[in-house]
Amino acid sequence: MSKKFVYLFREGQASMRDLLGGKGANLAEMTNIGLPVPPGFTITTEACNDYYALGRNLPEGLWEQIGPALGDIEKATGKKFGDKDNPLLVSVRSGAKFSMPGMMDTILNLGLNDETVEGLAASTQNARFAYDSYRRFIQMFGDVVLEVEHHEFERILEEAKEKQNVNYDSELTAESLKGVVEGYKRLIQRRTGSPFPLEPMKQLEQAILAVFRSWNNDRAIVYRRINSIPDNIGTAVNVQSMVFGNMGNDSGTGVAFTRNPSTGERVLYGEYLMNAQGEDVVAGIRTPQPIKSLEDENQAIYAQFVETSNSLEAHYRDMQDIEFTIERGRLYILQTRNGKRTAPAAIRVAVELCREGVISKEEAIARIEPGQLDQLLHRRMDSEAKLEVIAKGLPASPGAASGKIVFDADEAERLGHTGEKVLLVRTETTPDDIHGILAAQGILTSRGGMTSHAAVVARHMGKPAVCGCEALRIDYAHNTVTIDGVTYPEGTLFSIDGTTGRVIKGAVPMIDPELSEEFKELLGWADEIRTLKVLANADNPRDAQKARDFGAQGIGLCRTEHMFMDPARIPIVQEMILAQTLPEREVALAKLLPMQEEDFYGILKVMAGFPVTIRLLDPPLHEFLPNVEELVVDITKLKLQGDREEELNEKEVLLRKVRALSEMNPMLGHRGCRLGITFPEIYAMQARAIFQAAARLVKEGYEIYPEVMIPLVIHVKELAKLRKVTEEAAQTVMAEQGVTFAYTIGTMIEVPRAALTADEVATAADFFSFGTNDLTQTTLGFSRDDAEGKFLPAYLEQNILEHNPFAVLDRIGVGKLMKMGVQLGREANPGLKVGICGEHGGDPSSIEFCHQIGLNYVSCSPFRVPIACLAAAQAAVSSKGQ
Ligand code: PEP
Ligand code: MG
Repeated sequence: MSKKFVYLFREGQASMRDLLGGKGANLAEMTNIGLPVPPGFTITTEACNDYYALGRNLPEGLWEQIGPALGDIEKATGKKFGDKDNPLLVSVRSGAKFSMPGMMDTILNLGLNDETVEGLAASTQNARFAYDSYRRFIQMFGDVVLEVEHHEFERILEEAKEKQNVNYDSELTAESLKGVVEGYKRLIQRRTGSPFPLEPMKQLEQAILAVFRSWNNDRAIVYRRINSIPDNIGTAVNVQSMVFGNMGNDSGTGVAFTRNPSTGERVLYGEYLMNAQGEDVVAGIRTPQPIKSLEDENQAIYAQFVETSNSLEAHYRDMQDIEFTIERGRLYILQTRNGKRTAPAAIRVAVELCREGVISKEEAIARIEPGQLDQLLHRRMDSEAKLEVIAKGLPASPGAASGKIVFDADEAERLGHTGEKVLLVRTETTPDDIHGILAAQGILTSRGGMTSHAAVVARHMGKPAVCGCEALRIDYAHNTVTIDGVTYPEGTLFSIDGTTGRVIKGAVPMIDPELSEEFKELLGWADEIRTLKVLANADNPRDAQKARDFGAQGIGLCRTEHMFMDPARIPIVQEMILAQTLPEREVALAKLLPMQEEDFYGILKVMAGFPVTIRLLDPPLHEFLPNVEELVVDITKLKLQGDREEELNEKEVLLRKVRALSEMNPMLGHRGCRLGITFPEIYAMQARAIFQAAARLVKEGYEIYPEVMIPLVIHVKELAKLRKVTEEAAQTVMAEQGVTFAYTIGTMIEVPRAALTADEVATAADFFSFGTNDLTQTTLGFSRDDAEGKFLPAYLEQNILEHNPFAVLDRIGVGKLMKMGVQLGREANPGLKVGICGEHGGDPSSIEFCHQIGLNYVSCSPFRVPIACLAAAQAAVSSKGQ
């Protein structure tokens, strides 16, 4: 007994995708639930694999099983394969387990030859239709099976149109088409040395072999590689009786969704054309009608279609995308699949299906692709708007903005303050441009990648950015930008779309982000399900408020260096750095103290009732000093002028200090708590500012939870020492103010040694927060900027790394350290709270891992909070299912 290679549609089911491929399993499933599917059979993927195993030969027993299966179709349709009066025609299509659209080939109308075409003409009383079907068949067969170039057939068709003096294929008469058929046959004889096979069984055999072969054509191989589809699973072959939508005015074809795929509204949505085949709908020769008008055209068919689409949706428990054909008043379903949809539609469909009792809340949560939500959380361009796209760069920070272009941060700030909407356009941005970025609606740069300063800062601020837009030629001297030979002066209105990277001339109507009722409801369900808390990274009251609005349960990282970067404070910060003695430094610190107190007061107040994790100063001090090159230029100029001695001296002192502070590897240098160890007075000032703000708020009746976080710890002794500095500040403030307040002190885990000695570190910590940006850099031993700019693309291309480890957590390496950190930390300190605040805290896959290793919270940018909430709920759902 040979294996069973052939399954009639009624013998299969949806669960047999491995054996029957996705399409075959689906056709079988639809047949078995009683839908009007044209009868057919599927040749298994196993047959394809055996074909290759046998050195490209049909496996034994396969052909013997096809005859009876064809017989079954003949019985069901009342037609006969090869019969000259009433011929059965079939389609032959590939269908692997995973959909590979357009990668392998399809043959329609198989079974036609010089005799059966006449039978088809007579039985349909439509010779034109019959010969058109025949010439399409020869063309597809010639191209796919016999490998005669497609364009050679097209040339013959063109000649026929010229001869008959018409423009469209559809205008060719039966006579002309007969001529085309003869031309095609001659072409095949010429190119292959054999006549076109007229014997239908021969046609079928060759077509099946061609589908097997197409599994290994170049484009299929590439597609599999890109989509990680294994090479050894083979394709199934589906042989199905043809139905025709072009048999007169009681025939037609169409495509419909069971719900609106743009909005998710529960209405039948789609189009159809009477007296047409699928290709005619696509070709756009006639305009298809909205599905609703089928009701007027043919009430009975419409009613049957509505009923069928309802039962398909109920069966698959999701919105369906259905292809159908009506042949002489009879409805046939050719395909159904879960419909592709926009993000708003995905949410509405999932929520409504749950409300309708079709799916559970957990399923509704699991149905949403968190990454897709990004587009809903930012302003976006009205998709109806006409756009004059003048350049394209990298989609560096999502969202859209319009404004007058300016080329200087000071000018952006000046105009921004007058209420003018501006876009800051620079070759690149630096920390010196922060004020301009803050005042601008969006950022456009001609250089730099997805992790350039502009991109990182813009994402953090939730502002749109397009970076690395190389078509831009910026001329700072004349304040112009030239794109493709056209020069635009400062003040020209531009728009940017940071989601796609497009740069557009003029203003564009925008749609504000809003959380729809359905989205809010879904997030409510996510809150019920998830166990991870979701906090936000924010360092000013405005962002903190945004985070609250999006549902953040506190702040997981407040980076205090952003407060030091404020242009108004930079001179004082520099005074602090340049101080030669402790008393001198304390003068500067005393000036910073009230400013910092106001910063913390504002944030703690917005976040009343929730924890606010404030990280003490992290970056190396030279970041707050001017750039060496600029200083050298200034000094040279002053020397040449020779009359501003005092200024020259000041600059020279500054240059010496900048040089003294500059480091070979700032990422691995004098930063983080190493600053606190060498300049404890800086951390003491920050702690005092936090606690003074806390004392005021407590007096005002607010419930506040400050958490002081020490960065870049490698040794428990660092933490113990700085803990003491912090506690002393708290005691002093409480004594001075006569109030008490609760606070905690914890650390970031950002270097392998901290994770490896987490049991020791935890003895001095109330909480850990994994700083996975640095932990990834220090574990992998390369800096993010160097890696992404230079060699990381090669690592990804060569599959050495599966993902960019700075975007998607490296679970195996960095993740192992995290797991160890959590375990050791909790062993030594069972009450230890553990979270993450690196960029991975907003990445759905990384969030899943954080759930799995038992973190208490994730912290991410305010705009990603809803995504993180959903991802956290999905992680809870999937871990429950295991
Ligand atoms: C980190 O290292 O993950 C982190 C959050 O700190 P930063 O990105 O500020 O270095
Ligand atoms: Mg860090």
